[in-house]
Amino acid sequence: MNTREFISIENLYGAFNYNPLNVVITKGEGVWVYDVEDKKYLDFLSAYSAVNQGHCHPRLLEALKKQAEKVTLTSRAFRNEQLPLLCRELCQLTGYARVLPMNSGAEAVETAIKAARKWGYTVKGVENGKAEIIVFDNNFHGRTTTIVGFSSEQKYREGFEPFTPGFRLVNYGDADAVKAAVNSNTVAVILEPVQGEGGIIIPPAGYLKQIEALCRDNNVLLLVDEIQTGLGRCGKMFAFEYENVRPDVLIIGKALSGGFYPVSAVLASDEVLGVFRPGDHGSTFGGNPLGCAVAREALRIIVDEKLPEKSAELGKYFIGLLKTLQNPKIKEIRGLGLFIGVELLPEAGGARKYCEALREEGLLCKETHTHIIRFAPPLVIKKEELDWAFERIRKVLE
Ligand SMILES: *Cc1c(COP(=O)(O)O)cnc(C)c1O
Repeated sequence: MNTREFISIENLYGAFNYNPLNVVITKGEGVWVYDVEDKKYLDFLSAYSAVNQGHCHPRLLEALKKQAEKVTLTSRAFRNEQLPLLCRELCQLTGYARVLPMNSGAEAVETAIKAARKWGYTVKGVENGKAEIIVFDNNFHGRTTTIVGFSSEQKYREGFEPFTPGFRLVNYGDADAVKAAVNSNTVAVILEPVQGEGGIIIPPAGYLKQIEALCRDNNVLLLVDEIQTGLGRCGKMFAFEYENVRPDVLIIGKALSGGFYPVSAVLASDEVLGVFRPGDHGSTFGGNPLGCAVAREALRIIVDEKLPEKSAELGKYFIGLLKTLQNPKIKEIRGLGLFIGVELLPEAGGARKYCEALREEGLLCKETHTHIIRFAPPLVIKKEELDWAFERIRKVLE
């Protein structure tokens, strides 16, 4: 079957909740993917940073196979030998005391929200039912009904009401807005250190530090969503390290499994994750041995292959290249590590058509919002491959 046939079958039987580029991928290897016509493309999105380690990393494939031959799912009704080791390795890597594993990113965010609320009632002493969580304009934390309920994006919300109360939306990048929103019922602030889906929005220097201080002063938990920015993407293991802050709750996912299998996790202190008692929370697949074995190897690859360091170095290099473009369509180029946004002026007519044109040239990227193209290649990419991509970007923007 060819591309057109696969697309027509999908259009006939699938739901229309995505608007993908018309490339039907059949194989991936490192930074490259191949479509059903055997055309080769450089992946410049990395499944929204879930494949930082590159497609089908051989070590991950081996870990998956090895575990799949033993046991894949026990449920948490019983114990398995992979879960304790993943928890220990995550704590050793990050310095947190406890881990709660889930599957998708949105589930981990939901878990963090539940932990923060219960902490608010049982530790902080907020009156039952009154807990408030501060969230930010332009946020993206996933697609469950609770999470889209506190989105500022009409498209994510419309038609899905009524929503969960208890969230206060404030401007991103303005610490005074948080200060004004905090009250005695505030239990948490949840933020992305760089807003990814929001368009690679990098807050002003010192912002996270200010938010952290506000949280400490008011006995409010700082929840940091590093599902997309973390695990090397922004040039450090976690983007919050740029400001030397210490989130009370760290939420990770995506590259935690290198794209093989959905694995997410919430990391926190004993005080915070300790609020959960048996029966309070769970997931049939959360902490399953297959996912844990894959996540353990995915983390080791990030460390062994120095992916955060590579991202920092190559990110600087690639942003430098992009900044040499003297193109009147470009409004701004911004990024942290290999997490890069090119914002086009409205006159350019939207980022989508450039993504279509780049696909024609063999480079896969995706617009975010209307005018921004995001560049986020797997972190195993080589300098020459970035040069190859740059030539195509230069050509298409001209
Ligand atoms: C992708 C993402 C999520 C949601 O993760 P899913 O696995 O798609 O549920 C949450 N927060 C951020 C910052 C993300 O980028």
